[in-house]
Amino acid sequence: MAKSLLVTGAAGFIGANFVHYWAAAHPDDTIVAYDALTYAGNRANLDPLSGNARFSFVHADICDYDRVLNTLREHDTDTIVHFAAESHVDRSITGPDAFIETNVVGTHCLLKAAREVWLAGDGMDHRFHHVSTDEVYGSLAPDDPGFFEEQKYEPNSPYSASKAASDHLVRAYHHTYGLQVTTSNCSNNYGPYHFPEKLIPLCITNILRGLPLPVYGDGSNIRDWLYVEDHCRGIEKVLEGGRLGETYNIGGNNEWNNLAIVELLCDQLDARFSDEPGLSARYPDAPQAGGTSARDLITFVEDRAGHDWRYAIDAGKISGELDYSPHETFETGIARTLDWFLDNEDWWRPLLNRT
Ligand code: NAD
Repeated sequence: MAKSLLVTGAAGFIGANFVHYWAAAHPDDTIVAYDALTYAGNRANLDPLSGNARFSFVHADICDYDRVLNTLREHDTDTIVHFAAESHVDRSITGPDAFIETNVVGTHCLLKAAREVWLAGDGMDHRFHHVSTDEVYGSLAPDDPGFFEEQKYEPNSPYSASKAASDHLVRAYHHTYGLQVTTSNCSNNYGPYHFPEKLIPLCITNILRGLPLPVYGDGSNIRDWLYVEDHCRGIEKVLEGGRLGETYNIGGNNEWNNLAIVELLCDQLDARFSDEPGLSARYPDAPQAGGTSARDLITFVEDRAGHDWRYAIDAGKISGELDYSPHETFETGIARTLDWFLDNEDWWRPLLNRT
Protein backbone atom coordinates (compact mmCIF):
# COMPACT_ATOMS: atom_id res chain seq x y z
CA MET A 1 0.00 0.00 0.00
CA ALA A 2 1.25 3.48 -0.84
CA LYS A 3 2.65 5.43 2.10
CA SER A 4 2.34 9.08 3.00
CA LEU A 5 5.69 10.32 4.30
CA LEU A 6 6.60 13.46 6.19
CA VAL A 7 10.36 14.00 5.83
CA THR A 8 11.75 16.61 8.22
CA GLY A 9 14.97 18.39 7.31
CA ALA A 10 14.36 17.43 3.69
CA ALA A 11 16.10 20.53 2.33
CA GLY A 12 19.35 19.58 4.07
CA PHE A 13 22.10 17.26 2.88
CA ILE A 14 20.88 13.77 3.80
CA GLY A 15 17.17 14.67 3.83
CA ALA A 16 17.33 15.89 0.22
CA ASN A 17 19.22 12.78 -0.91
CA PHE A 18 16.66 10.63 0.90
CA VAL A 19 13.70 12.36 -0.75
CA HIS A 20 15.27 11.92 -4.22
CA TYR A 21 16.06 8.29 -3.48
CA TRP A 22 12.60 7.55 -2.10
CA ALA A 23 10.68 9.31 -4.88
CA ALA A 24 12.57 7.25 -7.48
CA ALA A 25 12.26 3.93 -5.61
CA HIS A 26 8.64 4.38 -4.41
CA PRO A 27 6.86 6.49 -7.04
CA ASP A 28 3.37 5.76 -5.65
CA ASP A 29 4.16 7.19 -2.21
CA THR A 30 3.36 10.76 -1.24
CA ILE A 31 6.18 12.86 0.21
CA VAL A 32 5.84 16.05 2.23
CA ALA A 33 9.20 17.75 2.75
CA TYR A 34 9.09 19.74 6.00
CA ASP A 35 11.95 22.17 6.63
CA ALA A 36 12.59 25.48 8.39
CA LEU A 37 15.27 26.42 5.82
CA THR A 38 18.00 27.36 8.30
CA TYR A 39 21.44 28.28 6.90
CA ALA A 40 21.90 24.54 6.17
CA GLY A 41 18.59 24.11 4.36
CA ASN A 42 18.38 24.87 0.67
CA ARG A 43 15.08 24.82 -1.21
CA ALA A 44 17.03 24.32 -4.45
CA ASN A 45 18.06 20.86 -3.21
CA LEU A 46 14.48 19.79 -3.93
CA ASP A 47 14.11 21.47 -7.34
CA PRO A 48 14.39 18.18 -9.28
CA LEU A 49 11.03 17.17 -7.69
CA SER A 50 9.16 20.36 -8.55
CA GLY A 51 7.01 18.73 -11.27
CA ASN A 52 6.12 15.70 -9.15
CA ALA A 53 2.43 15.74 -8.15
CA ARG A 54 3.10 13.46 -5.17
CA PHE A 55 5.64 15.84 -3.69
CA SER A 56 5.03 19.00 -1.66
CA PHE A 57 7.06 21.33 0.52
CA VAL A 58 6.13 22.87 3.87
CA HIS A 59 8.33 25.72 5.10
CA ALA A 60 8.02 25.41 8.87
CA ASP A 61 9.81 24.69 12.11
CA ILE A 62 9.53 21.30 13.84
CA CYS A 63 9.17 23.23 17.12
CA ASP A 64 5.84 24.62 15.85
CA TYR A 65 3.50 22.04 17.36
CA ASP A 66 0.29 23.26 15.66
CA ARG A 67 1.95 23.36 12.26
CA VAL A 68 3.30 19.82 12.68
CA LEU A 69 -0.09 18.57 13.86
CA ASN A 70 -1.98 20.22 11.00
CA THR A 71 0.52 18.96 8.43
CA LEU A 72 0.22 15.37 9.67
CA ARG A 73 -3.59 15.58 9.54
CA GLU A 74 -3.81 17.38 6.22
CA HIS A 75 -1.62 14.84 4.44
CA ASP A 76 -2.83 11.69 6.24
CA THR A 77 0.79 11.04 7.10
CA ASP A 78 1.53 7.48 8.22
CA THR A 79 5.35 7.67 8.25
CA ILE A 80 7.70 10.31 9.64
CA VAL A 81 11.37 10.17 8.68
CA HIS A 82 13.04 12.66 10.97
CA PHE A 83 16.29 14.24 9.73
CA ALA A 84 15.80 17.85 10.85
CA ALA A 85 18.59 18.89 13.19
CA GLU A 86 21.36 21.30 13.86
CA SER A 87 24.18 19.07 12.67
CA HIS A 88 27.58 20.80 12.76
CA VAL A 89 29.72 19.97 15.82
CA ASP A 90 31.79 23.19 15.57
CA ARG A 91 28.63 25.31 15.70
CA SER A 92 27.42 23.35 18.73
CA ILE A 93 30.60 24.36 20.57
CA THR A 94 30.17 28.08 19.86
CA GLY A 95 26.36 28.16 20.11
CA PRO A 96 24.74 25.14 21.77
CA ASP A 97 21.27 26.66 22.35
CA ALA A 98 19.98 26.05 18.83
CA PHE A 99 21.00 22.40 19.18
CA ILE A 100 18.91 21.93 22.30
CA GLU A 101 15.99 23.76 20.74
CA THR A 102 15.81 21.84 17.45
CA ASN A 103 17.34 18.49 18.31
CA VAL A 104 15.72 17.99 21.71
CA VAL A 105 12.64 20.25 21.92
CA GLY A 106 11.89 19.89 18.19
CA THR A 107 12.11 16.09 18.27
CA HIS A 108 9.84 16.05 21.30
CA CYS A 109 7.35 18.30 19.51
CA LEU A 110 7.21 15.83 16.60
CA LEU A 111 6.77 12.88 18.95
CA LYS A 112 3.95 14.64 20.79
CA ALA A 113 2.16 15.48 17.55
CA ALA A 114 2.66 11.94 16.21
CA ARG A 115 1.20 10.50 19.40
CA GLU A 116 -1.78 12.86 19.22
CA VAL A 117 -2.57 11.96 15.60
CA TRP A 118 -1.62 8.30 15.43
CA LEU A 119 -2.55 6.93 18.84
CA ALA A 120 -5.89 8.72 19.32
CA GLY A 121 -8.97 6.44 19.51
CA ASP A 122 -8.27 3.01 18.01
CA GLY A 123 -4.98 4.26 16.61
CA MET A 124 -3.55 3.50 13.17
CA ASP A 125 -0.55 1.73 11.73
CA HIS A 126 2.33 4.18 11.54
CA ARG A 127 6.08 4.62 11.83
CA PHE A 128 8.30 7.27 13.36
CA HIS A 129 11.83 6.76 12.09
CA HIS A 130 14.46 8.80 13.87
CA VAL A 131 17.77 9.50 12.11
CA SER A 132 20.66 9.74 14.55
CA THR A 133 24.42 9.60 14.64
CA ASP A 134 27.23 7.34 15.83
CA GLU A 135 28.59 10.34 17.78
CA VAL A 136 26.20 9.54 20.66
CA TYR A 137 28.51 6.63 21.61
CA GLY A 138 31.54 8.84 22.28
CA SER A 139 35.06 8.14 21.09
CA LEU A 140 36.97 4.88 20.44
CA ALA A 141 40.58 3.93 21.17
CA PRO A 142 42.68 2.53 18.27
CA ASP A 143 41.92 -1.16 18.88
CA ASP A 144 38.37 -0.91 20.18
CA PRO A 145 35.72 -2.76 18.19
CA GLY A 146 33.17 -0.60 16.32
CA PHE A 147 30.10 0.85 18.03
CA PHE A 148 27.30 -1.67 18.48
CA GLU A 149 23.67 -0.94 19.36
CA GLU A 150 23.87 -1.80 23.08
CA GLN A 151 26.94 0.37 23.53
CA LYS A 152 26.82 2.81 26.44
CA TYR A 153 25.99 6.38 25.36
CA GLU A 154 28.91 8.77 26.05
CA PRO A 155 28.24 11.92 23.99
CA ASN A 156 31.06 14.46 24.22
CA SER A 157 29.88 17.55 22.30
CA PRO A 158 26.71 19.62 22.69
CA TYR A 159 25.72 18.25 19.25
CA SER A 160 26.08 14.59 20.20
CA ALA A 161 24.51 15.19 23.63
CA SER A 162 21.46 16.78 22.00
CA LYS A 163 21.17 13.86 19.55
CA ALA A 164 21.54 11.40 22.44
CA ALA A 165 18.72 13.17 24.29
CA SER A 166 16.50 12.92 21.21
CA ASP A 167 17.27 9.19 20.86
CA HIS A 168 16.16 8.66 24.46
CA LEU A 169 12.91 10.57 23.91
CA VAL A 170 12.11 8.44 20.84
CA ARG A 171 12.78 5.29 22.84
CA ALA A 172 10.64 6.54 25.73
CA TYR A 173 7.66 7.27 23.44
CA HIS A 174 7.81 3.66 22.29
CA HIS A 175 8.03 2.16 25.75
CA THR A 176 5.60 4.53 27.45
CA TYR A 177 2.96 5.18 24.80
CA GLY A 178 3.50 2.42 22.25
CA LEU A 179 4.52 4.76 19.43
CA GLN A 180 5.84 2.62 16.56
CA VAL A 181 9.40 3.87 16.33
CA THR A 182 12.74 2.83 14.85
CA THR A 183 16.08 4.61 15.12
CA SER A 184 19.22 4.44 13.00
CA ASN A 185 22.63 5.71 14.12
CA CYS A 186 24.87 6.34 11.15
CA SER A 187 28.52 7.18 10.61
CA ASN A 188 29.81 10.18 8.61
CA ASN A 189 28.09 10.66 5.25
CA TYR A 190 29.43 12.27 2.08
CA GLY A 191 28.03 12.89 -1.41
CA PRO A 192 25.91 15.35 -3.44
CA TYR A 193 24.24 18.36 -1.72
CA HIS A 194 26.72 18.22 1.17
CA PHE A 195 26.89 21.69 2.72
CA PRO A 196 30.39 23.12 2.14
CA GLU A 197 31.20 23.66 5.83
CA LYS A 198 31.82 19.91 6.35
CA LEU A 199 35.24 18.33 5.70
CA ILE A 200 34.83 16.71 2.26
CA PRO A 201 32.83 19.45 0.46
CA LEU A 202 34.89 22.14 2.22
CA CYS A 203 38.09 20.62 0.83
CA ILE A 204 36.68 20.18 -2.68
CA THR A 205 35.35 23.75 -2.90
CA ASN A 206 38.50 25.22 -1.31
CA ILE A 207 40.76 23.38 -3.74
CA LEU A 208 38.70 24.67 -6.67
CA ARG A 209 39.12 28.24 -5.30
CA GLY A 210 42.79 27.85 -4.32
CA LEU A 211 42.10 28.33 -0.60
CA PRO A 212 43.80 26.62 2.39
CA LEU A 213 42.61 23.17 3.44
CA PRO A 214 42.30 23.35 7.25
CA VAL A 215 43.13 20.08 9.04
CA TYR A 216 42.46 19.90 12.78
CA GLY A 217 45.43 18.98 15.05
CA ASP A 218 47.70 16.45 13.34
CA GLY A 219 44.90 15.08 11.14
CA SER A 220 44.85 11.70 12.88
CA ASN A 221 41.16 11.72 13.92
CA ILE A 222 39.35 8.79 12.34
CA ARG A 223 35.81 8.57 10.96
CA ASP A 224 33.90 5.78 9.21
CA TRP A 225 32.63 7.20 5.89
CA LEU A 226 29.46 6.17 4.07
CA TYR A 227 28.14 7.37 0.70
CA VAL A 228 24.88 9.20 1.40
CA GLU A 229 22.76 7.06 -0.96
CA ASP A 230 23.89 3.97 0.97
CA HIS A 231 22.63 5.63 4.15
CA CYS A 232 19.26 6.21 2.43
CA ARG A 233 19.21 2.56 1.40
CA GLY A 234 19.86 1.55 5.01
CA ILE A 235 16.97 3.69 6.27
CA GLU A 236 14.74 2.08 3.62
CA LYS A 237 15.71 -1.37 4.95
CA VAL A 238 14.83 -0.29 8.50
CA LEU A 239 11.51 1.23 7.42
CA GLU A 240 10.57 -1.92 5.53
CA GLY A 241 11.87 -4.65 7.82
CA GLY A 242 13.15 -3.15 11.06
CA ARG A 243 11.66 -4.31 14.35
CA LEU A 244 9.67 -1.70 16.26
CA GLY A 245 11.50 -0.07 19.15
CA GLU A 246 14.88 -1.21 17.76
CA THR A 247 18.00 0.72 16.87
CA TYR A 248 20.16 -0.13 13.85
CA ASN A 249 23.69 1.17 13.33
CA ILE A 250 24.55 1.98 9.71
CA GLY A 251 28.17 2.28 8.63
CA GLY A 252 30.51 1.91 5.70
CA ASN A 253 33.18 -0.30 7.26
CA ASN A 254 35.44 2.37 5.86
CA GLU A 255 37.71 4.08 8.38
CA TRP A 256 39.93 6.96 7.27
CA ASN A 257 41.84 9.57 9.19
CA ASN A 258 41.16 13.21 8.28
CA LEU A 259 44.60 13.88 6.78
CA ALA A 260 44.39 10.80 4.55
CA ILE A 261 40.98 11.95 3.25
CA VAL A 262 42.25 15.44 2.49
CA GLU A 263 45.27 13.98 0.68
CA LEU A 264 43.04 11.60 -1.28
CA LEU A 265 40.83 14.50 -2.42
CA CYS A 266 43.93 16.49 -3.43
CA ASP A 267 45.34 13.58 -5.43
CA GLN A 268 42.02 12.78 -7.10
CA LEU A 269 41.51 16.39 -8.14
CA ASP A 270 45.13 16.67 -9.35
CA ALA A 271 44.46 13.65 -11.56
CA ARG A 272 41.16 15.14 -12.83
CA PHE A 273 42.86 18.37 -13.85
CA SER A 274 45.57 16.55 -15.76
CA ASP A 275 43.02 14.27 -17.49
CA GLU A 276 40.54 17.06 -18.33
CA PRO A 277 42.36 20.20 -19.55
CA GLY A 278 39.04 22.15 -19.65
CA LEU A 279 38.96 22.18 -15.83
CA SER A 280 41.82 24.70 -15.61
CA ALA A 281 39.78 27.22 -17.60
CA ARG A 282 36.69 26.61 -15.46
CA TYR A 283 38.59 26.78 -12.16
CA PRO A 284 41.54 29.12 -12.80
CA ASP A 285 42.21 29.68 -9.06
CA ALA A 286 42.79 25.95 -8.39
CA PRO A 287 46.49 25.18 -7.80
CA GLN A 288 46.43 22.61 -10.60
CA ALA A 289 45.57 25.38 -13.08
CA GLY A 290 48.91 27.00 -12.14
CA GLY A 291 50.78 23.71 -12.38
CA THR A 292 51.06 22.88 -8.65
CA SER A 293 49.42 20.22 -6.48
CA ALA A 294 46.41 20.71 -4.21
CA ARG A 295 48.46 19.17 -1.37
CA ASP A 296 50.29 22.52 -1.13
CA LEU A 297 47.07 23.96 0.33
CA ILE A 298 47.01 21.64 3.38
CA THR A 299 47.20 23.75 6.56
CA PHE A 300 47.19 22.32 10.09
CA VAL A 301 45.01 24.33 12.50
CA GLU A 302 44.36 24.22 16.24
CA ASP A 303 42.36 21.13 17.18
CA ARG A 304 38.62 21.28 17.87
CA ALA A 305 37.80 21.45 21.61
CA GLY A 306 36.98 17.96 22.95
CA HIS A 307 37.61 16.43 19.50
CA ASP A 308 36.56 12.75 19.53
CA TRP A 309 39.46 10.68 18.26
CA ARG A 310 37.81 7.78 16.48
CA TYR A 311 34.33 6.62 15.40
CA ALA A 312 33.63 3.26 13.77
CA ILE A 313 30.41 1.32 13.30
CA ASP A 314 29.74 -2.37 13.79
CA ALA A 315 26.99 -2.81 11.19
CA GLY A 316 26.49 -6.52 12.00
CA LYS A 317 22.88 -6.10 13.14
CA ILE A 318 21.53 -4.35 10.05
CA SER A 319 23.53 -6.55 7.68
CA GLY A 320 22.49 -9.79 9.45
CA GLU A 321 18.83 -8.94 10.14
CA LEU A 322 17.99 -6.79 7.15
CA ASP A 323 20.52 -7.97 4.55
CA TYR A 324 22.06 -4.52 4.27
CA SER A 325 25.39 -3.67 2.69
CA PRO A 326 26.63 -0.45 1.09
CA HIS A 327 26.76 -0.44 -2.72
CA GLU A 328 29.55 2.12 -3.13
CA THR A 329 33.20 1.61 -2.29
CA PHE A 330 35.06 4.69 -1.09
CA GLU A 331 36.72 4.99 -4.52
CA THR A 332 33.41 4.95 -6.43
CA GLY A 333 31.64 7.14 -3.87
CA ILE A 334 34.36 9.80 -3.89
CA ALA A 335 34.46 9.73 -7.71
CA ARG A 336 30.68 10.32 -7.85
CA THR A 337 31.01 13.12 -5.28
CA LEU A 338 33.79 14.86 -7.23
CA ASP A 339 31.78 14.57 -10.45
CA TRP A 340 28.81 16.16 -8.72
CA PHE A 341 30.72 19.10 -7.22
CA LEU A 342 32.63 19.75 -10.44
CA ASP A 343 29.33 19.81 -12.37
CA ASN A 344 27.35 21.84 -9.83
CA GLU A 345 29.33 24.98 -9.17
CA ASP A 346 26.05 26.94 -9.45
CA TRP A 347 24.78 24.99 -6.43
CA TRP A 348 27.75 25.41 -4.09
CA ARG A 349 29.01 28.93 -4.86
CA PRO A 350 25.96 30.76 -3.44
CA LEU A 351 26.28 28.77 -0.19
CA LEU A 352 29.85 29.80 0.57
CA ASN A 353 29.00 32.98 2.47
CA ARG A 354 26.03 31.63 4.38
CA THR A 355 26.31 31.74 8.16
P1 NAD B 1 21.98 19.34 7.52
O1 NAD B 1 22.49 20.31 8.53
O2 NAD B 1 22.58 19.32 6.16
O3 NAD B 1 20.40 19.55 7.32
C1 NAD B 1 19.52 19.77 8.38
C2 NAD B 1 18.20 20.26 7.81
O4 NAD B 1 17.29 20.43 8.90
C3 NAD B 1 18.30 21.62 7.09
O5 NAD B 1 17.59 21.56 5.87
C4 NAD B 1 17.64 22.59 8.06
O6 NAD B 1 17.01 23.69 7.40
C5 NAD B 1 16.63 21.69 8.75
N1 NAD B 1 16.26 22.18 10.08
C6 NAD B 1 17.10 22.58 11.07
N2 NAD B 1 16.39 23.00 12.13
C7 NAD B 1 15.09 22.83 11.82
C8 NAD B 1 13.87 23.04 12.52
N3 NAD B 1 13.87 23.54 13.77
N4 NAD B 1 12.70 22.74 11.91
C9 NAD B 1 12.70 22.23 10.65
N5 NAD B 1 13.82 22.02 9.93
C10 NAD B 1 15.00 22.31 10.51
O7 NAD B 1 22.09 17.93 8.23
P2 NAD B 1 22.44 16.49 7.59
O8 NAD B 1 23.89 16.33 7.52
O9 NAD B 1 21.60 16.30 6.39
O10 NAD B 1 21.92 15.53 8.75
C11 NAD B 1 20.56 15.07 8.78
C12 NAD B 1 20.35 14.18 9.99
O11 NAD B 1 21.23 13.07 9.94
C13 NAD B 1 20.63 14.89 11.31
O12 NAD B 1 19.66 14.49 12.24
C14 NAD B 1 22.01 14.39 11.71
O13 NAD B 1 22.15 14.37 13.11
C15 NAD B 1 21.99 12.99 11.14
N6 NAD B 1 23.31 12.44 10.76
C16 NAD B 1 24.14 13.14 9.92
C17 NAD B 1 25.35 12.57 9.54
C18 NAD B 1 26.27 13.28 8.58
O14 NAD B 1 27.38 12.77 8.31
N7 NAD B 1 25.90 14.41 7.99
C19 NAD B 1 25.73 11.31 10.04
C20 NAD B 1 24.86 10.64 10.90
C21 NAD B 1 23.64 11.21 11.24
